[in-house]
Amino acid sequence: MRKPIATPSRTKEILEKHDMFAKKNYGQNFLIEPGVVEKIARSAIVSDNCVVFEIGPGIGALTQYLCEYAKKVVSFEIDERLPDVLKDTLEEYDNFTLVMQDFLEVDLKAWVDKYRKEGMDVVIAANLPYYITTPILFKIFESQADIAAITVMMQKEVADRFSAVPNTKDYNALSIVTQYRCEVRNVMKVPRNVFMPKPNVDSTVLQFRFLPSKDINEEAFFSLVKACFKQRRKTILNNYQTYCEDKEKAKEELEKAGIDGKRRAESLVMEDFLRLYEVHHEM
Ligand code: SAM
Repeated sequence: MRKPIATPSRTKEILEKHDMFAKKNYGQNFLIEPGVVEKIARSAIVSDNCVVFEIGPGIGALTQYLCEYAKKVVSFEIDERLPDVLKDTLEEYDNFTLVMQDFLEVDLKAWVDKYRKEGMDVVIAANLPYYITTPILFKIFESQADIAAITVMMQKEVADRFSAVPNTKDYNALSIVTQYRCEVRNVMKVPRNVFMPKPNVDSTVLQFRFLPSKDINEEAFFSLVKACFKQRRKTILNNYQTYCEDKEKAKEELEKAGIDGKRRAESLVMEDFLRLYEVHHEM
């Protein structure tokens, strides 16, 4: 590798050379600490035969390390000013492809299938634009694509909800819906001072790996979970009877699922919700 891009002086130099500034509406906060970038890249690449799909390469800070360690890197970027910059900053790599497209519009399954057919493992890595973290992750979760791991940085408060455990303030329907689909691992915390410009929040890098899918109607399961958390301070019986539109039926189903109606949704584990779903669809 020539010089790391992710340093304050190099980032400034690149921005000045290309007469660029960070665009707030694209969530642009560039990483300026090579140690952090290296750790994200190393965690993201889970085999020797990986293609990495990167969301939002920016000026190439993370991309550079991904190109060093992975067989191939395909980066999806929305900002039309960046192809010229990346051509310059990543010119030493011939394993890099830039796709200029809003990631939310990308046919992810088709891209993944293309590389799976070539026998490659597909992983996703990103320092996500904060304004669309959840839509991007849900697009990936719902893509039905064979992705080995998703390693992404996001605002700490959002990461706390994705990875929350029962009986904590961050545990909510998003935690259940995510952990139903994926195993979630906390890779590292990242302070706000390693970005340019500096955001108002700290960040966390999470890694998601898909769990084997279960034989249930996911949409119906997720709507039951959301209903249970609808009014957080209320008991599970209170929320669940609104969902069932029948207090007696709600009581009976909770009892059958072995759940005390006086508990709150935040104290229930995944298995409780799955049992309740089963009872509801049996009765
Ligand atoms: N990877 C670089 C880094 O770590 O320094 C930049 C990260 S910056 C937080 C987010 C990047 O995502 C920017 O390059 C931004 O232009 C890009 N981006 C924002 N919205 C996007 C979208 N809908 N699709 C693809 N890229 C997007």
